[in-house]
Amino acid sequence: MPRQTEVIPLLSPSPGSQRELIVHRYGEKGKGKKVYIQAALHADEWPGLMAAHHLIPLLDEADAAGDIQGEIIVVPYANPIGMAQRINGKVAGRYSFDGSGNFNRNWADLVSGAAPLLKGNLTGNVEEDVEKVRAAFREVVSHQSCRTEVDELRMILMNLSCDADFVLDLHCDGEAELHVYANQQHEDEAYALCQDLDSPVLLIETEAGGGPFDEANSSPWWRLKEVLPEASHLPPVCCAVTVEFRGLNDISDELGRKDAQGLISFLRRMDIIAGKPAPQRNEVQVSFLHATDVLHAPIGGLVSYQVELGEQVKKGDLIAVVIDIAAQNPMEGRHEVHSRANGRYFAQMSERLVRPGESIAKVAGQEILAHRAEGNLLEA
Ligand SMILES: [Zn+2]
Repeated sequence: MPRQTEVIPLLSPSPGSQRELIVHRYGEKGKGKKVYIQAALHADEWPGLMAAHHLIPLLDEADAAGDIQGEIIVVPYANPIGMAQRINGKVAGRYSFDGSGNFNRNWADLVSGAAPLLKGNLTGNVEEDVEKVRAAFREVVSHQSCRTEVDELRMILMNLSCDADFVLDLHCDGEAELHVYANQQHEDEAYALCQDLDSPVLLIETEAGGGPFDEANSSPWWRLKEVLPEASHLPPVCCAVTVEFRGLNDISDELGRKDAQGLISFLRRMDIIAGKPAPQRNEVQVSFLHATDVLHAPIGGLVSYQVELGEQVKKGDLIAVVIDIAAQNPMEGRHEVHSRANGRYFAQMSERLVRPGESIAKVAGQEILAHRAEGNLLEA
């Protein structure tokens, strides 16, 4: 079946203005595994837009060759609201101007609504029950409150993703190597994704916290079991991951093409597209999120990074100097920031003037770090 492209209008936020989403669909609903891919939910993170731009023609090719074996949904830009938020000439697309917060936090909890619908209705047959749970999730999403344009955007995206086998949420960091966040329940698939994408780092969480989009899609499958014992036979069906396509300005046709090829390789590996996968990397460094050191600025000031992205660092190594430019003696205004982990230095800020307490650098370590609290890892 050829690609179906749908334009979905969002609730008009003010007289005379309206935004819309575009959704590309391949394959047949309910046939084979379903993958959902969206770019730039954080609307100021654009490398995923470039990956999607190059992915769509590759999917069209696969479609023309009759190679699509599952269902593929691509939302080439997931947040037209955020992309339109400009202040002082810059897109400010991480937090909604309507006061509803970070676009990638506090996604709806599917479990509290789905559990009563499923109670007494499961058969014990995994295949049948997986479909019942998916139907319950869709039902819950369709009844979400939709008072605002942002509510509606959230409902539409979740409605497209909540019954998928794979959810790939494409983001980026400030300045970074490619890295992927996944839950430990899906470490194997996420490792393979990293190999396909040429991602040197895989960050594994037991519980990310904060209700990001990936977790809102994957965690209901195991959280349901906690409240509904009769669901205990269900596997963790939805592998939802956040792909950080490097840094904010790592945008080029070349990278977009490479990333799109990587995504195609993963879809082949998962039998969603016919053909042989072509991994771009053998070894991936896997780190628990609570073994990943996030370094904060001790003072406000100018940052001078002392290591290159991709370097292996040791506990105690100097990572950055934050300079208090108001210090009367400039040499006394230099504050050192040291790694507390042994591991790979993979992300830093794109700005060089920072506020006190801001997270400025990340090291993917191997040992669990006592100062890293589980469940609030994205913010800490
Ligand atoms: Zn993001």
